[in-house]
Amino acid sequence: MSGWIGVDLDGTLAQYGGFKGPDDIGEPVPAMLDRVKAWVADGREVRIFTARVCAPGFEEPIKAWCEKHGIGGLAITNAKDFGMVELWDDRAVRVMFNKGEPCCAEARNEMLDAAVTKNALLADRIKELEAEVEKLEEYLSRVPAGMYL
Ligand SMILES: [Mg+2]
Repeated sequence: MSGWIGVDLDGTLAQYGGFKGPDDIGEPVPAMLDRVKAWVADGREVRIFTARVCAPGFEEPIKAWCEKHGIGGLAITNAKDFGMVELWDDRAVRVMFNKGEPCCAEARNEMLDAAVTKNALLADRIKELEAEVEKLEEYLSRVPAGMYL
């Protein structure tokens, strides 16, 4: 079969818990890794489709990750072309052909709810950290000048 299948990395092929650097790629998502391996064994072309490669220094860790998990040698891209026949991505919203209506409105709403929850948790954590910083600054302001901690 001609054409290639794009597979997103973070949150699709690999577990994702927030960005921690180019070398930090989560453990594989078993169902997705098995699917990719089956496609490759079946002669399908699969490309890792990730925004990570829009910046230098990100491609090598992805290659190493793929090699480690038994799918070495896959192309890595962030570009769509006429050969792409499918895209598997945790952020994608599939729309009905020529209609502009989402195919999976329920799944999309779940995704949006999860994003809102995650943002709220992050906002709470930022407030906690800001309060800690304020306490530390207040403490440091009471340390006499020239005195070591
Ligand atoms: Mg993703």
